[in-house]
Amino acid sequence: MKLLRLGDRDPSVAEARAAFIHLGFLPVAPRQAAVADNAPVTATGPATATTAGAVTPAEPDGQTSATEAERSAAETEPAVTADLFDRELDNAVRAFQQSRGLSVDGIIGPDTFRAIEEARRRLGDRLLYFSVTHPFVGDDVTALQERLSNMGFDVGRADGIFGARTDVAVRDFQRNRGLDPDGLCGPRTLRELKRLERTVTGGRQDVLRESVRLLARGPSLLGMVVAIDPGHGGDDPGVTSGPLCERDLMADLASRLEARLLASGLEAHLVHGPHESPSEAERAARANEIGADLLVSLHVDASGSIQAQGVSTYYYGHARGSSAVGERFALLVQREIISRTDMVDCRAHPKTWELLRRTRMPAVQIDLGYLTNAHDVAALASTEFRAAVAEALLAATQRLFLPPEQDPPTGQLRVPRIAART
Ligand SMILES: [Zn+2]
Repeated sequence: MKLLRLGDRDPSVAEARAAFIHLGFLPVAPRQAAVADNAPVTATGPATATTAGAVTPAEPDGQTSATEAERSAAETEPAVTADLFDRELDNAVRAFQQSRGLSVDGIIGPDTFRAIEEARRRLGDRLLYFSVTHPFVGDDVTALQERLSNMGFDVGRADGIFGARTDVAVRDFQRNRGLDPDGLCGPRTLRELKRLERTVTGGRQDVLRESVRLLARGPSLLGMVVAIDPGHGGDDPGVTSGPLCERDLMADLASRLEARLLASGLEAHLVHGPHESPSEAERAARANEIGADLLVSLHVDASGSIQAQGVSTYYYGHARGSSAVGERFALLVQREIISRTDMVDCRAHPKTWELLRRTRMPAVQIDLGYLTNAHDVAALASTEFRAAVAEALLAATQRLFLPPEQDPPTGQLRVPRIAART
C-alpha cells in the first residue's frame, strides 16, 4: 500500500481523516459533514459559511438553489482540504500511534493502517468465533478477551487475536453459564457477558497467569527453549553502514548467542536461516510451533541524526496492559547489556509490533545501537562487543528464571553456578 504522510494530497487521506474522527482523535468537522451529504444545500436548511453568499435563499423544490459551477465549487473546494494530510491530521496520527504502542512517526503505513482497522471494531459489531485460516483480529476481540479474563477464564494474553485459547475460554464460559457451548460469540453470549460483568472486579488475570507459569518452571534452565530471531536475512540486509550491515552483524550475534545457550543446557533455535527473511507473523508462528519459552529478536537501528545512539529493548504492551514477563525480561536485557558495555541506555518500551503480539511466549526485540552513530558502529564492529552482548543475553535469560532472593548482582552471574544449582 501507499504510505501517507504530512503534506500528501490523496483521496485516501480523506478516508483516514474520517477514521480518526470516528476514533475520537480528531474533532468532528461540521463543514466536512455538510459536504459529505451531497444533497443541495437548501435541503438541509441553513447553508454553511462558505456557500451562504452564493446560494439563493431556500426554494421548496431546491431547483434554483445553485448553478452547476457553484455546486461543483462547493463540492471540490472542501474536498481538496480533506484530501490534504495537514498538521492536524499528523498530530492525530501520532497520538493514535502512541496510544497503540506503534512507532510514532506520523506516517500511515501498513502497521498503522492495520491498527486503525482493528481499533474501529466494537464488541457486538460482528459475530466472533475461532477461524483457523483467518482469525478475527481487532479491539472487539481484545474486549472479549479482557472480559473473559476478568471473570477468571484463561484466554492467555489479551492480544486481540481470536485464537484456539480464546475459543476454549468462550466455550468454557458458555458451558459455565448454561449456554450451548458452540464457541460462537453472538448476541446471547454477549448479553450473558454483560450481565455478569458488573459483578466481577477486573484483575489482569492474564498477566498473573504468565508469571505463575514462569515460576512453575523453577530455577532449572535445562530444556528451556529460546527462539532466536536474527532480524534480517537473504536479500534483506537491514540497515547498512560502509562494509557493515545489520543482517550480517545480527547473524553473527545470533550464532554466538545460540552457542552460549546450548553450552548452558538450554535449547536454542534460530527461527530462520541466513538465506531468508520471513514476515514478522511467520517468525512468530515458527517460534510458537517449536514451543519456545522465550523469543529474542536481534536488530540494530538507524537514524537521520548521527547523534542518536544506544540500546533499546521492546516487549509486548500498550496503554491497557502489557506482558508482565516480557517487560521484566526486557528490563533484564537492558540492565545486563548496559552493565557489560559502554552503550547508552535507551531503556525498555512496550510495543504492539506483529512479532511481539503474535508470539505466545514472552518476547523481546533488541535494537542494539545505531549504524548511523560513530560510537555504536565501532562497538558493533568489534567481536568482543558481540561476545559481551551474547553473554549479557544469556545472563538475562538465567535471571528471568531465578527467584528474586537468588538473584546475584548484575554482571556477576556465572553459568557454572547456575548449572550446579539445578
Ligand atoms: Zn532490523
